[in-house]
Amino acid sequence: MYDHDDSTPNNAQGLARRTVLGFAAAGAAGLLLTAGARPGGVIPGAVNRMWDAIVIGAGASGLGAARVLADAGRRVLVLEARDRIGGRMWTDRTSMSIPIERGAELVHGTTVSTWELIDRLGLSTRRQTTVFGRLRPDSPWIDGSTFESLHFPLGAPSLPNGLPDPLDGETALTWLERVGIAPDNYPILLAAIEVDTEQFDVLPADHIVGTVADALAVQDLSGPFPPEEYGDYRVIGGYDQVLQPLSTGLALVRGARVHTVEHRRGRVDVHSTLGSFKAKSLVVALPGGVLKNGDVTFDPPLPADRRDAFQEIEYLPVFKGILEFAQPVLPVGHPVPRAWDIMTTFSKNPPSLWNGSLGTPGYAGEVVVAWMTGGRAQELLDLPEAQRFQAALENVRAAAGDRGLEYVHASTYDWSKDEFARGAYPGPFSRRSGLNGPIEGTIFWAGMVTSTIHSSRNSGIAAANAVLAELALR
Ligand SMILES: Cc1cc2nc3c(=O)[nH]c(=O)nc-3n(C[C@H](O)[C@H](O)[C@H](O)COP(=O)(O)OP(=O)(O)OC[C@H]3O[C@@H](n4cnc5c(N)ncnc54)[C@H](O)[C@@H]3O)c2cc1C
Repeated sequence: MYDHDDSTPNNAQGLARRTVLGFAAAGAAGLLLTAGARPGGVIPGAVNRMWDAIVIGAGASGLGAARVLADAGRRVLVLEARDRIGGRMWTDRTSMSIPIERGAELVHGTTVSTWELIDRLGLSTRRQTTVFGRLRPDSPWIDGSTFESLHFPLGAPSLPNGLPDPLDGETALTWLERVGIAPDNYPILLAAIEVDTEQFDVLPADHIVGTVADALAVQDLSGPFPPEEYGDYRVIGGYDQVLQPLSTGLALVRGARVHTVEHRRGRVDVHSTLGSFKAKSLVVALPGGVLKNGDVTFDPPLPADRRDAFQEIEYLPVFKGILEFAQPVLPVGHPVPRAWDIMTTFSKNPPSLWNGSLGTPGYAGEVVVAWMTGGRAQELLDLPEAQRFQAALENVRAAAGDRGLEYVHASTYDWSKDEFARGAYPGPFSRRSGLNGPIEGTIFWAGMVTSTIHSSRNSGIAAANAVLAELALR
């Protein structure tokens, strides 16, 4: 929800912030090639052709790579297991009255590369950064874009010797106890880190030291944060629209689940449920969970250190429950203004709610997204679906002050049970290094441990540039 960019996986400052299509008719060649996201359009001969590059996976990473390769005049083929492109970006246009995002929803930042695509298409966006939080039902609401959100509710701890460094393996909770900051004295932005990464009894202390230091530095300041470049934005009408410039005109096979990659220097043979394809190079743009699970076999096997690195990828449990109401749910005069975006009540699970419909022209209802990550998200994911919705509804009811509130539609999705994702995105314990080195100048890597749309696309662009450099040498 908030900024989970790869460089700052626990950045709570962000607060100021299917089925595989069984191509039965594909016949012996096992091949239907579709141009971009558009269904239909058969391109014969793909099995026999020697492609310059094959890209496995049509998410933001794979499409980012394929676009660069195609624009450079290279013959590139994208193989995608699902019957749709986008991967963990999944705009659902059928479950509710307006499009909802079952995966990625927000553009994190005003300068990230996704804006090129938004601007090129002239898409409407809605800034989503007015954040309110409260620690307990009787605490005041605090606007998360103000210095007040970094204030200690019961007063700053006295630290004559400064902040102690975390000990090896120390959890955030233990370190905070040692520093003398009890949970009822957490600044709102500190508490919010639990909502976007992992809970403090598990999270390593070094993920929160910076926020506590920031808080100590600004106790005398009040009012809004200075204008900054940070902001979270929703794309009105569906995030997946940004994929269009990436996917148009690509040779792309949907329903092609890759199971085996045979490789040697300068040659790959990629075997999928829709046939085998050959190329001079390969970009693997698969989720880390898919690689970790060994869903794709490499022949010969990848070096042991690479296989070990895959095993150290840890995806975070993420709960995203989406409720649609027939009418706006916060009453006029509520302490949180009508145009609320994100509100977090830390006493609830799921604690965080945001408005997933503000800015949608002509829409009379309200879509509320309920959010949690880490162990407490897993508790929600373990519940039967109806109970997950009820948990989310209870928080909306409390926030709205209306015990009788009912939703008209509800949706939730457990990405850890999706065989083409095997998780939502990497958490604080995930290995991020040692994954991207090319294999014999032939296999290149994108995505895997990226956790935003822009960083995923950027990783694909980097992989494609590495492929182009290698092909130019041959
Ligand atoms: C609930 C949730 C909320 C999120 N919120 C945000 C947000 O607000 N903002 C943001 O920027 N990011 C967000 N993210 C993260 C973002 O969605 C991902 O970082 C990004 O989509 C990853 O792109 P990718 O291309 O690397 O992987 P994916 O999008 O997963 O693409 C990989 C592709 O590979 C395909 N595939 C898998 N196995 C095979 C196989 N064997 N053969 C062929 N194809 C295969 C998959 O079907 C998929 O299409 C969120 C993610 C989740 C789950």
